[in-house]
Amino acid sequence: METAPCPECNYEISLPNPRAGQRISCPNCGADLEVITGHPLELDWVYTEPDDDWETLDDDWDEDWDDDRPGGAGEDKDEDWEDL
Ligand SMILES: [Zn+2]
Repeated sequence: METAPCPECNYEISLPNPRAGQRISCPNCGADLEVITGHPLELDWVYTEPDDDWETLDDDWDEDWDDDRPGGAGEDKDEDWEDL
C-alpha cells in the first residue's frame, strides 16, 4: 500500500498497487490524477499534451469514417449484395 497527498486538496490517497501512468480520481475532491511514480507514490494532475489531444481526435475521426467506407461496417453489406 502506497500513500501520497492529493496535489489539489492534500487528502492522503492510498493505492494498493500503484503503477506509473495509472489514472485515478481523488476520493476527496474528485481531481483527475495520474500516478507519476508508484514507489514511492507520487501523484500529479492529469495533463494532456497536444499530441495526445490530436491522437484522441484522430481516433474518433477514424471511427466515424470507418462506418461509411467499404472495409468497415459496410463490407458485410457489399458481400451480401454480391451474393445476390
Ligand atoms: Zn483531492
